[in-house]
Amino acid sequence: MPLGNNCNYIYNGKMKAAPPTEFDAIIVGGGMVGASLACLLENTPLRLALVDQSAFDVDAIPYFRQRSMADGASANQPGFDPRVSAITAASKNLFVGMGIWNEIERSRCCAYQDMEVWDADGTGSIHFAAADINQAELGSIVENSLVSAALYNKLASSPNLEILAPLAVDSLDFLEQEGESMVQLQMDRGRPLRAKLVIAADGANSKIRQLANFATREWDYDHHALVTTVRTASAHGNEALQRFIDTGPLAFLPLNTGLDSDAQHYCSIVWSMVPDKAREIMSLPDDEFRAHLAAAIEHRLGEIEWSAPRFSFPLRQRHAIDYVHRNIVLVGDAAHSIHPLAGQGVNLGLLDAAALAEELSRGLQAGRKLADPIVLQRYQRRRIGHNLGMMWLMEGFKHLFAEQALPVRWLRNSGMTAIDNLPAIKNLLARRAMGMDW
Ligand SMILES: Cc1cc2nc3c(=O)[nH]c(=O)nc-3n(C[C@H](O)[C@H](O)[C@H](O)COP(=O)(O)OP(=O)(O)OC[C@H]3O[C@@H](n4cnc5c(N)ncnc54)[C@H](O)[C@@H]3O)c2cc1C
Repeated sequence: MPLGNNCNYIYNGKMKAAPPTEFDAIIVGGGMVGASLACLLENTPLRLALVDQSAFDVDAIPYFRQRSMADGASANQPGFDPRVSAITAASKNLFVGMGIWNEIERSRCCAYQDMEVWDADGTGSIHFAAADINQAELGSIVENSLVSAALYNKLASSPNLEILAPLAVDSLDFLEQEGESMVQLQMDRGRPLRAKLVIAADGANSKIRQLANFATREWDYDHHALVTTVRTASAHGNEALQRFIDTGPLAFLPLNTGLDSDAQHYCSIVWSMVPDKAREIMSLPDDEFRAHLAAAIEHRLGEIEWSAPRFSFPLRQRHAIDYVHRNIVLVGDAAHSIHPLAGQGVNLGLLDAAALAEELSRGLQAGRKLADPIVLQRYQRRRIGHNLGMMWLMEGFKHLFAEQALPVRWLRNSGMTAIDNLPAIKNLLARRAMGMDW
């Protein structure tokens, strides 16, 4: 239905009665981080709006319909969302607390107990095992669209939340209202929205971050990430594989079809590489691509029998210098985008959401104003160091494994093998990667 300028409330593209345009807080961006934050604020007295430029229609989420067919897949191939996340124990605990983990597990999810990381250029390798740290799993590989669907299902009955979608932010103004500072958002249609606090969860190219002039430090990784789904001849055994090649890391993340016959024969691929190499691999015919991929992972899972369409994303590292400016706060990729090599991006964003929800609730209980700078700065202090530390670690890994000098290669290989033989350090690394012990 065409939506005119006098239309002021849109839900899944349908016009409804006009709601007030004023909220306590507006979350812009209903990706995994923004939607999680809305869930975490569900039991507060706040009047919230969650705004996204795309419709929140669970049925319209590609691949959500169970076992739907991927483009180009034959009738025997399950359709997986090409975008998946390695969900850490810390993120899983958050989802359990929100009451959505059961739905995610029921729909499709693969817990992995082992992870093998090795250097293409020598003999160095590390094996992480959940059993070594007394855990049932190291993490779970989940399709992003399934996490979003579980979040939207939960939010649909949220008593203090208005979902405004599809609706995009066009511009932003700071103004005073009865002695309180407010943010006003002009939308691409309908009435403006106004709130005491605006939370930008609108992703790596955050419009809110740009409109509010947040300064960032950013640089190109000189890597593109190629993602796809494959079927392998051998079962993955619930093990994640990562091989560091001089052109960039290649990860095989185990998927679970939920079907008995071939439950362990599908993997999601995240292959980061220099742009020229990415263009070359993207242009290969399917059979040549599969042969290349099988060789790149040293045939650990036998032949690649089938592959879904490939997608490629340029990777850029970006970190906002501050996460708070007046009554605007950044969370998730709007605050930081990081190389996917350790699968930490959304996990860091979820920790941001948890810390912000906790600080806002604590501030309200202490009788503070919602956008009290003391409350918002507490959130920033809790998250900025952790996020920066993880980003520098990924940057270090990327350079370490791209290095061709013989002494560095020797050190890298002997270092990996040495860590593999030092359970205390190895287990500490595993617990950190799982979001524990921070
Ligand atoms: C190849 C690849 C593999 C990855 N693998 C992993 C992994 O294994 N584990 C992991 O933790 N992370 C991984 N990541 C990172 C992870 O995908 C991101 O960190 C995560 O999706 C960020 O979530 P977000 O909600 O902050 O932002 P987004 O998912 O980008 O959501 C932003 C939302 O804001 C909306 N929006 C944008 N602009 C506007 C506007 N002007 N008005 C209204 N709405 C707007 C968008 O529609 C969108 O819904 C990977 C990333 C890549 C590229």
